[in-house]
Amino acid sequence: MAEINMATTREHGFPNNYSNEFLILDKGEGVYVFDVAGKKYLDFGSGIAVNALGYGNKEIAAIASAQMEKLVHVSNLFTTEPALAFASRLVDGKRFSAVHFGNSGSEANEAAIKYAKLWSIRTKGPDCYRILSFSGAFHGRTMGALASTYNNKYKDPFGPMIPGAEIIEYNNVEKLRETLDESFAAVIVEVVQGEGGLRSLSDEFASALKELCVKHKVLIIADEVQTGMGRTGDLYASDGIGLDAHIITLSKPLAGGLPLSATLIPGFVNDKVKVGEHGTTFGGGPVTTAVASYVWDIITGEGFLGGVKEKSSYLIGRLEILMKEYGFIKEIRGKGLLLGLEIDENETVDVLKIMGEARDKGLLLLKTGVNVLRLAPPLIISKEEIDEGIAILDSVLKDFEENIFTR
Ligand code: PMP
Repeated sequence: MAEINMATTREHGFPNNYSNEFLILDKGEGVYVFDVAGKKYLDFGSGIAVNALGYGNKEIAAIASAQMEKLVHVSNLFTTEPALAFASRLVDGKRFSAVHFGNSGSEANEAAIKYAKLWSIRTKGPDCYRILSFSGAFHGRTMGALASTYNNKYKDPFGPMIPGAEIIEYNNVEKLRETLDESFAAVIVEVVQGEGGLRSLSDEFASALKELCVKHKVLIIADEVQTGMGRTGDLYASDGIGLDAHIITLSKPLAGGLPLSATLIPGFVNDKVKVGEHGTTFGGGPVTTAVASYVWDIITGEGFLGGVKEKSSYLIGRLEILMKEYGFIKEIRGKGLLLGLEIDENETVDVLKIMGEARDKGLLLLKTGVNVLRLAPPLIISKEEIDEGIAILDSVLKDFEENIFTR
C-alpha cells in the first residue's frame, strides 16, 4: 500500500508515460514545500526551474485572484490591459517589435520555428526552411520542437519527424562551418542545456554561430525557456554571452508558476507575417500576464540579478568544497542558479539514488542528462538556505561514500 504522502497515479488515470509513484505536495512557503503528510522539503528544483519567486507569494495570489474576479479569459479575438502591459515590458520597439504569447515552452519554440520559416521562405525562397539544432538539446515535445530535440528516446516512437530538422554536435565549430548554409531558416540553441546535462555554449562556438548566421542569413533562436528571466544571473542568458539572438523564447518562470510563454521577434521577421498565420486560444490571457508583469518587475528590479550572480558564486563555492571531498563528483556545470554536479556513476552511486535519499532527508533535487544532478533553487533563496541545502546534500553524499568504502 502506498504511503500517505505517495500516490500510485495510474490507479487515478494518469497515463503510462508517467512514473507510477508521485509525492503528493500540499503547500509551499518561500523555498520550502510541504507534502500532504506535513513533511517539509527545501526545494532545489523549483518545479523544474519554474518557481523563481518561490512558493506562497501573497502578491502573486492577490494579483491572480483580483484579475480572476474581473476577467479570466477573452481569447485572441480581444485583448486586455494586463496583456498589453506585459507585452510592452517585453517589447522595446527596437530589438524586438512583437511578442507571441503561448502557454508552454514547447509552444514558444513551435512559434519561433514557424516565424523563422515564414521569414526565411518569404525572404530567401521555398527551400530555405531547415532548422539546425544540437546534440543534447531539448526544445519540447510538440512535433516541431520535438524534431529539433536531440534525445531519440523522445522521438523514435513517433515515426518521421518534420523534414529539414538537422542536428549536429554542440560546440563543434568545424561541423557548424560545414553544415550551415542559406537553406537553413534558423538555428535553435540553448546557452546552457537545461535537460541535456547543463553543458554551456562555448565563446568560440557562439562567435562562429553569429558570424555564420549573418553570412548565410539564418536566424538565431535562443531557447531561453529554462535559462531566461534571470536563472543564469542575466535577464537573458544569450545576452550574457553576447549571442545577439534574433528570436528569444521564454516560458517556465514567466508567470510565477502559471502557464505562459513568450516568443520575442524582431521587426524584420514580424514584417513578413500575415494575419491569421499563427495563433492561440489561451496564450497571453489576463491572469497569467497580470502575474507576469509583477514577476518581471521583481526580476528586472534593482539588485535582483546581481543578487542571483552573488548567490551563484556562493553556491559554486559550496559545490567546489563538495567536489574536493567526494571523488565521484567529476565536474560542476551550468551558470547562475542553474548548476549541476556530474556524477561518476557506478553500482552504488547514481543520480536517482542521490535524489531519493536527499528527498528522504528533506531536499528536492533534479536530474539532467545521463548523470548530472541539477540544482535550480528559487532565485529568491538566501545564503542561509543554500547552506541548509548543501548540508543535507553533504550528508547524503557522505552516506554514499561510506557505502563505497564498506563494499
Ligand atoms: N525548452 C527548454 C530549454 C526546456 O527546458 C523545456 C522544458 N524542460 C522546454 C523547451 C519545453 O517546455 P514545456 O515542457 O513547457 O513545453
